[in-house]
Amino acid sequence: MTMVTLCRPIRESWPRFSDRFYRWFPCLSDPGRRSSLGLKVALVALHLVYVGVLFLFDRDLVDKTTKEPWYTAIYLLLFVATLVQYFLTAGSSPGYVLDAIRAARSASTSKQPAASKNGGLVITIDGSQRGSNVLGSNTSSWTKLVMDMYPPGSSVRTWTCTYCNVLQPPRAKHCQDCDKCVLQFDHHCVWLGTCIGQGNHSRFWWYICEETALCIWTGVLYITYLTVNMSKTWWIDVVMILLLVILTISLIFLILLLLFHSYLILTNQTTYELVRRRRIPYLREIPERVHPFSKGICRNLYNFCCARSSIYAMEPLPSAQELEAKSRPYTCLDVLSCRCC
Ligand SMILES: [Zn+2]
Ligand SMILES: [Zn+2]
Repeated sequence: MTMVTLCRPIRESWPRFSDRFYRWFPCLSDPGRRSSLGLKVALVALHLVYVGVLFLFDRDLVDKTTKEPWYTAIYLLLFVATLVQYFLTAGSSPGYVLDAIRAARSASTSKQPAASKNGGLVITIDGSQRGSNVLGSNTSSWTKLVMDMYPPGSSVRTWTCTYCNVLQPPRAKHCQDCDKCVLQFDHHCVWLGTCIGQGNHSRFWWYICEETALCIWTGVLYITYLTVNMSKTWWIDVVMILLLVILTISLIFLILLLLFHSYLILTNQTTYELVRRRRIPYLREIPERVHPFSKGICRNLYNFCCARSSIYAMEPLPSAQELEAKSRPYTCLDVLSCRCC
């Protein structure tokens, strides 16, 4: 009896089994959702393996837990907070253009003009309006709102997404994976299974920050174990060293990512704008060292941390005078007066 003969019954019954499985769990019938769920399960499993191995082999840590429970309690709190932050970020909206259109329509029907704040347009959105059909009516108010942010004489067609047929405000981009236009698009994160944009960039930064802190602490615990217990049991040493090597590589990547996104936040840029600057029509002509949307380090930081909750903030393109002022070389007086802040 060959392997082919053995496998045939399984192969024949597999479609019936999968059909029944997807009838029970219809959300898993989409391959994209399945891979996203698989990644989430893998991430949780990886975290559990690291902590589990530590508490299984490190008797000193277990003894320390009984003597100083607060030490382990803080570590486990960070562990849980990191996982919670991961799921919150993965489940958050990056700020879809369609949602912003709904907010703009709501503002125009309730006769509440969208307010201007910090040079940008701020639209407050009501969560109960999400999911309603918005493209059916009153797209002209959105068109006016968006075209006012571009230089006069710009064509609507230039800024209309060819995939979803919506007018994109500056800094928005269509994501091929989500099949939606995202406000202030940064990148599509495969690890989180969602886009990172205006709505969740802050959460994403906090997630990287927590994950980095957790990796550093876990690394310290692994190194402490190895320095005290090295050469006692060879196979435990091999497992611990292997996990420590993977942890170190992940930590280097996380620190670089954290520094990179901190730089982006301080200069009010996105990954897409930095990497594809020459492909974005309104950034192409601006010198590399000029950050057109930056309002100074302090204001950028404030906008990122404090002014982004439940709002869609759309920033108009800076005028020629503003760009000229930003490209002016720094003088001693500028340094003394903290022009960059
Ligand atoms: Zn689109
Ligand atoms: Zn996406």
